[in-house]
Amino acid sequence: MSAQEYDVVIVGSGAGGGTMAYALSKHKLRVLVLEAGPVFNPFTDFKLHKTSWEAQYFPHKPTSEGRYIYAPMQALDSKWDDLLSWNSIIGRMNRKGQREAYKYHHVRGVGGSTLTFTGESHRMHPEAMAMQSRFGVAADWPMDYAALEPFYCEAEHVIGVAGPEAADVRWRSEPYPQPAHPLSYASQHTKTAAESLGLSWEPNARAALSKSMDGRPSCNYCGNCTRGCPRTDKGSVDVTFMRKATASGFCTVRTGVTVTRIESTKSDTVRGVHVVNAEGAAEFIETAQLVVSCGAVETPRLLLVSDGLANESGLVGRNFMETLSWSCSGLSETPLGSYRGLPADSICWDFNAPDAVDGIIGGCRFSEGVHEAGLNGPQSYANRVIGGWGKAHKEAMREAFGNVLTIAAIGESLPNAGSYVDLDPEAVDANGIPLARIHSELEESELKRLQFMANKSREIVQAAGVKKLVEEYGSYDYFSSTHVFGTCLMGTDASTSVVDSYGRSHRYKNLTLMDASIFPSSGGGESPSLTIEALALRSAQQFVRG
Ligand SMILES: Cc1cc2nc3c(=O)[nH]c(=O)nc-3n(C[C@H](O)[C@H](O)[C@H](O)COP(=O)(O)OP(=O)(O)OC[C@H]3O[C@@H](n4cnc5c(N)ncnc54)[C@H](O)[C@@H]3O)c2cc1C
Ligand code: SF4
Repeated sequence: MSAQEYDVVIVGSGAGGGTMAYALSKHKLRVLVLEAGPVFNPFTDFKLHKTSWEAQYFPHKPTSEGRYIYAPMQALDSKWDDLLSWNSIIGRMNRKGQREAYKYHHVRGVGGSTLTFTGESHRMHPEAMAMQSRFGVAADWPMDYAALEPFYCEAEHVIGVAGPEAADVRWRSEPYPQPAHPLSYASQHTKTAAESLGLSWEPNARAALSKSMDGRPSCNYCGNCTRGCPRTDKGSVDVTFMRKATASGFCTVRTGVTVTRIESTKSDTVRGVHVVNAEGAAEFIETAQLVVSCGAVETPRLLLVSDGLANESGLVGRNFMETLSWSCSGLSETPLGSYRGLPADSICWDFNAPDAVDGIIGGCRFSEGVHEAGLNGPQSYANRVIGGWGKAHKEAMREAFGNVLTIAAIGESLPNAGSYVDLDPEAVDANGIPLARIHSELEESELKRLQFMANKSREIVQAAGVKKLVEEYGSYDYFSSTHVFGTCLMGTDASTSVVDSYGRSHRYKNLTLMDASIFPSSGGGESPSLTIEALALRSAQQFVRG
């Protein structure tokens, strides 16, 4: 394929790549997006209308999940037994004596992992962007909140983010484009409980329409965002940025195309990419500009298999940050109808600042979490909440269904030497390319933060009048990450970072990395997609300016 046909080739169409495609095609640059996964049709692929909906999670297709591997996980220490995951029916979940590698959750497809995301739409806490200079941990962001603010606004407009009027420490130059969603009954109940403890509890900012927009209807509160939204009101990248990019006439998308290697020249530029196309044939695609947006596990993998491209600092794959999470579920004696409503519709930001928790560096946040814990259908209740058989089971189910209340917490994940992504020395994918290998270690400081998250979650559940806890699940004994960051971090110094503040390689002038891999720190539990999208819009603006 000739270099003249396109101005830019983008690898990956998730939060980073899809937003770059939108912003560059808006400026009439000819963009080619190479996406390893398939297209998902929300109206036919997502199965919420089927009676078997609860048995099906996100409906993966043959090529919509990448393979990866884990290095051995760390041993558990009885000192932290209070953080073991357990369930009232099955008891202790992990009996192995070492942390279990459950999953790096992601989707390959047009829209990337946002196809399955919940849709929380958060801005970074401004102080969480200077963790190195303030606290001596992680790395500083090479820009401040003010530099990102206009791009946060633009991203929120494209998506149609619905959020509350009141601004917190994340000051806003304009209101959210859509009014906040009304709180579900379970969230109202939680709010009362949290406020009785002196905590603030507010509507969460959500990529789910509260008013119809751009031919997308408003949310019907079915509660199943992670199974794929069949109405297109969820602001995943396929129905927002990518839809606008392709409508511009300047963006071509090729699906089922896996980039296997990036080729560079001796003059510090990238020449193009080797791919395996949808027919299984090898191709070389030349390009004047390359944007790599494969996510924080696959982007370092692609650079490492390309003879360590852009790894002059030795930091490609290092500083891997994962999702530090905890959920605490209890069974209320009073009906809550908690299967209804928008998932994670309310949130507490009180402990989100990096110094908000006494004696612990790095913040966290708490939200209503029934749907994210997957306790929103009768099957999950029968498996995880109400045991037994026969008539007694049926009666108990009738009485209990809808009464679970869950608090979900996510906290800062700080980088450490034991957490990184490298290439597995043996395992390869169908194209013979070494798999990414995830190394994850939780240090004492993470476990202390997790203990705080567990204690506070229990406190809130109990303040809501719930006497019986039914399940707790967390990162201490399970690696289960939906948010991953940091393997190609951005910074101003080429010896301590991989890319600059616009995602441009310090060495290869026509190579940009744009996804969660470039985050220098994870934030105190903020969901990352909106920040990835704001970074991409900022980078694209600079790209066009030249
Ligand atoms: C269950 C779940 C819930 C979540 N909830 C939220 C939430 O509420 N709010 C939030 O902000 N975030 C949430 N996230 C996280 C969010 O989805 C990700 O942080 C975000 O999508 C990451 O964007 P990215 O651009 O880094 O990568 P991705 O969105 O994963 O995109 C990477 C793309 O690159 C493609 N690709 C990879 N390798 C290649 C290759 N070699 N060749 C061609 N293409 C390739 C992949 O197919 C994929 O489409 C959630 C994630 C999950 C899984
Ligand atoms: S709750 Fe709303 S955003 Fe989520 S899947 Fe249902 S309709 Fe879509």
